Amino acid sequence: MSAPLQDAWSAARVAVLDPDGTRRAVDKYDAPALAANSGPVNFHVMAKPVGSICNIDCTYCFYLHKEHLPGGPGAARMSDETQETFIRQYMAGVTGPEVTFTWQGGEPMLRGLDFYRRAVALQKKYARPKQTVNNDLQTNGTLLDEEWCAFLKEHKFLVGLSIDGPREIHDQYRVDKGGQPTFHRVMHGLALLKKFGIRFNTLTCVNRHNARKPVDIYKFLRDEIGSTYMQFAPIVEYRAFKQRSVQAQNQAQPAPRECDPESRPGHPNSIVTDWSVDPEDWGYFLCRLFDRWVQRDVGKIYVNQFETLIAQHLGEPSQMCVYSENCGKAVAVEHDGSLYSCDHFVYPDYRIGHLADGNLRQTVLARDQVKFGYAKSEMLPQYCRQCSFLSDCWGECPKNRILRTATGEPGLNYLCRGLKTFYAHALPQIDRIVAGLRANKTKGARP
Ligand code: SF4
Ligand code: SF4
Repeated sequence: MSAPLQDAWSAARVAVLDPDGTRRAVDKYDAPALAANSGPVNFHVMAKPVGSICNIDCTYCFYLHKEHLPGGPGAARMSDETQETFIRQYMAGVTGPEVTFTWQGGEPMLRGLDFYRRAVALQKKYARPKQTVNNDLQTNGTLLDEEWCAFLKEHKFLVGLSIDGPREIHDQYRVDKGGQPTFHRVMHGLALLKKFGIRFNTLTCVNRHNARKPVDIYKFLRDEIGSTYMQFAPIVEYRAFKQRSVQAQNQAQPAPRECDPESRPGHPNSIVTDWSVDPEDWGYFLCRLFDRWVQRDVGKIYVNQFETLIAQHLGEPSQMCVYSENCGKAVAVEHDGSLYSCDHFVYPDYRIGHLADGNLRQTVLARDQVKFGYAKSEMLPQYCRQCSFLSDCWGECPKNRILRTATGEPGLNYLCRGLKTFYAHALPQIDRIVAGLRANKTKGARP
């Protein structure tokens, strides 16, 4: 718990009334809501203007299936009314100096340019004095044209471009509805982004096919794409992910242990899809990527996995929710206005409210959502609690905790063995980088 939250919690050691009228003592799950009365509130909402609808059909996409999820949001476009309600409540709810809109999908550009023109106008309408508004658009890049780019440039959007590597790597899984490759279309979109001078970063999904090619991918992103801000996300999809969350899955049947063959992709009874990255390959990928980066690109190329480690070793918070002790401050709003605990937990069990309830901030700070965030650390197996990398890893994302430990404890992260390999490999160098940064800071502070 952060110091302001701790203070708010301690100061408010009083009873509260639950919505059903029950009187009970305040506990730590009330702290964020109590702290909101006396300090700035910051949270993040990922918006889905077209839900899971997409113009292409990536094999590994975890979101395409939401339109068929029983009890889920279905498939439709966000209405103008929902859009305005969202923007108004979000801008009123975040009382810190900065509010960031992340438009994601599916493919968010399918909602059409007029939707975003209206979004920008509404943001101006509802902005408080001195409130900074950022817009991020995560896209597959295939629909970018001159008109879009002129708009994105004018309104300073940050574009996240999904690209998995050079042509033969990218086209393995990122195909259109007819199974045709998309690489050439992404490169066309990239050329337009560059022509218009639009800020962009790259998002590369690391899967079973490309995980053994980290150097090819890194060199391609750096030298051919010109990416200076690279994000890498491991693809981990347990087989039943289309129907239920991993927590529901774990209750339905005991998970394999880390040492069982079913814990790896490719086994006929594997717990994960064939395209999921092998955990050892994830470790290999990160280690080789790190070696390349550390040789000549520290301070020049931002790689999300490495920068977050540096931040943590500088004593700062993790820049990625997956490596934070707790999470829960990044919710998702679907096209119909329904709110979910996280983009990775868009399942009926994790529907936390609706914009029609009238107060987005209250929903994000409510006990159930705070408990969701605390569960990240509270549900860690003993094996993680005793791990020497705990303060770097924090058990990674709960969505990936689909294994049991060798002694049978549930809740072990699928990526564990790769993460351990990476931490053991990279931390000595990370500590040297951090020592250098501290020394420079000290020198700079001298008169
Ligand atoms: S569930 Fe995973 S992706 Fe979602 S906020 Fe928590 S750590 Fe992040
Ligand atoms: S490296 Fe493995 S054991 Fe250690 S905290 Fe992460 S998931 Fe848990």
